[in-house]
Parts: sequence; structure tokens; C-alpha cells
Amino acid sequence: MREPNLIPCLPENAPFTLEQRAYLNGFLAGIFSREPAREASAVETSTPPLLTLSILFASQTGNAENLAKRLAKEAGKRGFAPTIHDLGKYPIEQLASESRVLIIASTYGDGEPPDNAKPFWEKLCASALTFSQTKFSVCALGDTNYPKFCAFGGDLEKKLTALGATCVFTRANCDVDFEEPFSKWQNEVLSALNSTESARAKPTDLIAENPEPRVGQNANESTYSRNNPFPAPLVTNRKLTGEGSEKDTRHFEISLEGSDLNYEVGDALGVYPMNCPTLVNEILGIFKFSGEEFVNGREGAEIPLREALLLHYEITKIPVPLLQAVSEQTGDETLKSLVAPTANGALTKFLWGRDAVDLLRAHSSVKFSPAEFVRFFKKLSPRLYSISSSPKAHPGQVHLTINVLRYESLGRARKGVCSTFLAERVDSNSPVPVFVHANKIFRPPLNPDTSIIMVGPGTGIAPFRAFLQERQAIGAKGKNWLFFGDQRSATDFMYRDELETMQRDGLLTKLDTAFSRDQSEKIYVQHRMREHAKELFSWFEDGAHFYVCGDALRMARDVDAALHEIIQTGGNRTVEQAIEYVSRLKTEKRYQRDVY
Ligand code: NAP
Repeated sequence: MREPNLIPCLPENAPFTLEQRAYLNGFLAGIFSREPAREASAVETSTPPLLTLSILFASQTGNAENLAKRLAKEAGKRGFAPTIHDLGKYPIEQLASESRVLIIASTYGDGEPPDNAKPFWEKLCASALTFSQTKFSVCALGDTNYPKFCAFGGDLEKKLTALGATCVFTRANCDVDFEEPFSKWQNEVLSALNSTESARAKPTDLIAENPEPRVGQNANESTYSRNNPFPAPLVTNRKLTGEGSEKDTRHFEISLEGSDLNYEVGDALGVYPMNCPTLVNEILGIFKFSGEEFVNGREGAEIPLREALLLHYEITKIPVPLLQAVSEQTGDETLKSLVAPTANGALTKFLWGRDAVDLLRAHSSVKFSPAEFVRFFKKLSPRLYSISSSPKAHPGQVHLTINVLRYESLGRARKGVCSTFLAERVDSNSPVPVFVHANKIFRPPLNPDTSIIMVGPGTGIAPFRAFLQERQAIGAKGKNWLFFGDQRSATDFMYRDELETMQRDGLLTKLDTAFSRDQSEKIYVQHRMREHAKELFSWFEDGAHFYVCGDALRMARDVDAALHEIIQTGGNRTVEQAIEYVSRLKTEKRYQRDVY
């Protein structure tokens, strides 16, 4: 590791505010303190035969797939001959003949499997096969902000166990910040398989040679990544919503000049934010900390408390361990009941709209040292936003379309961390640390003659602006139909001029809008879809691809239901035939979603 004193630091007289200085110094420290990649472990001279290992992944945004590739590389170094399979293409019968299986499974929407893993899951649920020779372990990926956190991974584990497979290692449930739990699970599960299994492995499970794991290349390989973000200048910050709108939705343009970052339409941009300095000052004020005290940052290195709160920890939510500690120190009965294992619903309700400041002001007797205090918080994770530009139309730039989150709760103003960071706290002196997050399963059709139907209410329009720019740039002949909706046409019709120009130019074949609050009854995008059932069906029959982006919990479900109805009414199909039709669209990758 580098010596800490080799980490560059801004000179004292550099023209930055305290927050900007902390931000930039923290950013440099993050980059320069990282350990160089570990050397591959020494090659053993007498290599024992390799163990077969199937790594299955169920990915929605590409994280599970990337982790599967990493796991395969590591397994290859540790005595296994790994093969990687997408659960979406993996025949369930094959599972019954596998000896060792490691599954990396994302959870999508409301605790569901990713779209392409649904057919596998349905077959597994209906299966009469037994998997008695299969030993497995699951690494589940999810987001603790959703009630059914990591549900699909847990469901898989239960179902496989019920069908006779042996779970050889405890499931890892990883939050958005998956690095640490994933690495721990990877390390321990491979050791467990190696020590307990190699002695008992049957000859058919052993491979004599040392093949390279079948690992694909990441199209987006660059010197900049999630672990080494590019400090990008924000060049445009423009409000899209008009005077009187209930929302502040912004168009951001970020320069990628000087980086070797590439992206494709459909990809997302990861942004590392800085917390709001006002909130940091409020927290420091509660304990009368100066902010200069040294504490562990997210990578473990010691840094000043102010910097840690600004850049390293998720401080806008109350972490449950903090709630537990406050409950223990105060003996408060309400808090005790909230942290009891039975209090699930009440806990979620309590945590919503509260942060550490609310909790600590209500229990002012509690005392923590700065080092104890930061240990309660989760690491601040990067936010992913669907990219709203095509690199062909805007070389060297990436555009984002983001709703700036601000609301009031318990008499205090609250701010979305990253949206307000971009809207209020980035200026020409403070670059935005970014990386590209590939989303290979959300792409325009390879054949430019294929027509597309896009449903993107609100900021869900982002990737479709990118798709349209891309199709214009390559002269794609396929037709384009966009369903867009938001609250009011006068204030919330984002990119109206651009869309109308595209329509006039013949690029946007059809544009249907649904402004929910322009009249007394709600009109949503799915209502507009239903009005065009016959025509939509004929587009599907001609091979059109169907895309949905935006809110996962309500909109995407309702749009899915409307799609089924459209196949019935527009295509004269029964309920069962419509289910089959939609399922075929998914299998053929003609129904793709980017929703959460
Ligand atoms: P929004 O809140 O989704 O509102 C857009 C429009 O949708 C409004 O007219 C709203 O009407 C309407 N709507 C409400 N419920 C609906 C339903 N069940 N079916 C169809 N339409 C419905 O817009 P937003 O503020 O831009 O937020 C977009 C959401 O999508 C957020 O949850 C965001 O996290 C997510 N998103 C994800 C990505 C991504 O990168 N994957 C990108 C963009 C957005 P009313 O409010 O009048 O009821």
C-alpha cells in the first residue's frame, strides 16, 4: 500500500471553500489510497485436479453478471473449473446434474426475479425434478430501501432446498453497496467448497487441465470504473420543468473529455455524491464535535470527521444499529419496541422521513465518540441514473434527466443526496466523480429496421431520448412510438421542443402524452396505450420491441397489465394466450424494462 503521506492534498491557499476542499481532498484520497490490484496468488507446483463449478447469474442491470465474472476468475485461481450461465438461458434439467452451483441473483421491483430469470423461476416452481446431488449457495443482491430486500435470492434458496439440493454455505444478502459482503461470501464459499468438497468429489466432477474460466470481456473496460471514478466537469444544469410545477426536474450535461469512458444508449451513469454541508453541520452541532476529529473513512483509512460525514457515509437515513444504540443508552420503551424483531412495519414507518438529527435531538442525553458514531452508518454509495443522450449525437458528453428531491418532514427541509448535489452543490471548481454502468439488457434492437414502442413517464423518458438520438444518428429506418406522461402539460412536458421537432422530422412516428393532472380524472400512459390497442398489436405482430422505463412499483406493473389487455382486445386473444404472447416477447428480448 502507498504511504499515506504520498496522497496529494490541495494547497492551503487554493481558492476553495471548506466543503469543496474536503470534497476534493477526500476524492484524491479515495483514488490514491486504493491498494494496487492484488498479485495473483503464487502458482502451485503440483496442481490437484480441478473441480467443476457452475456459476449462475440472474441480472437486471448487469451487476450480477459482472460479479459472476469476478467469481469465475477467483474460482479459477482456487482450484475450480468454472462455467458461467445466464439463468435466463439455463435449462433447469441441467441443474439436476450439477455438483456445485453458485448463484448470484438480483432482486427486481417488488422482490421479484429479474425479467429474464422469470421463466427459469416459474419452471423451478413447477418442477418435479430432484436436485439431490447439487450443492449450492446463493449471493442475493438487493436494496434495503425496498421492503422485500433480496427476496428472490431467498426464494431460490428455499425452493432449491425443498427440491433436495444442499445449501453448503449461508446466503449473502447484499445491499446496493455490495462490494464487502460479496467479497466475503466469495472468499468463504470458495474455501468451504474447496475444503469440504474436494476430498469427496466424484471423478466425473474433476477436470484435469487448467482451462481459463469462460469469462466474457466487459465492453466498457476503461481505466475509470466504480472503484476509480472519473472527475468529470458538470457543464450544464438546466431546469426542465416550468414555473409553477410541483417538480424540479433537471437536465444535466457532464463532460467525459479526457477520460476513456465509453457508453452505449441504455447504460446508466454512476455518480458519487457529496452530502449536504448543512446537514453535516447539524450533526456536528448535536455532539459539539469540531469535525477535525479523526475517524475511519469507508475504506478504513483515518480521515477528519467532517470529511467522513460529507463523503463517506449515508447520513440522510437512520441506520438501525444507531437506533439500537440509542435505545440501549436511553432505555426508551418506544425505541426498544421499534428495534424488537417483531416490529417490522412500525420500524419502517418510524424510519421514513426521519434522519439521525431527528433521532439525536429527541434523545439529547446520548453520547458517542466520533469514531463510534460513524461506525453506525452505511457507506455512501454511488447513485445510478439512466443516461439520456446518445454518444453519437453528443460525443464526449453524457446527459442525465433527474428529478431533484426536496421535501419537508417533521418541520425540517430534506434533500435527496445526489439530485441536490448535482443541482445545488456542484460548480466549476468541483468535478463530479462518475463511472459508466453498462446495462446490456436494455438496448435498442440490433436491426435498425425494427420498430420500437417506448413507455417513459416522468424521468422515465431519459433512456428514450437517448434511443431516439441514436436511431437518428445511425439513420435507423424502424418506426418509433413514444408514450410520455407527467403531471401537467404546461409545466412538465419535458423536452417538448425536441420531441416535437423529432416528430416533424419523421423520426418520432407517434407521440402520445398523458398529463395526469390536466383534468379531474387521472390519465396515465397506460390509458393512452389502451386507446390504441389494435395499432399497438399490429406493431407487435410486425416485430416491434417494447420498452418501459420509470417507477417500478406502480407504473411498470400497471403498464404490464395494460399490455396483457391490449394483446387480448387488440389481438383478439384469450387471457392465457395474452400471457403466453407477453412471455414470448420477453424470451425474444422484445420486452425490456429499466424500472425501479
Ligand atoms: P412519476 O412520479 O413516475 O410521475 C410521472 C407521471 O406518472 C405522473 O403523471 C404521475 O401521475 C404518473 N403516474 C402515477 N402513478 C402511475 C401509474 N400507476 N401508472 C402510470 N403513471 C402513473 O415521475 P418522476 O417523478 O419523474 O419519477 C419517475 C420514477 O421512475 C421514480 O420512481 C424514479 O425513481 C423512477 N425512474 C427510474 C429511472 C431509472 O434510471 N431506471 C429513470 C427514471 C425514473 P400522478 O403523480 O398525477 O398520479
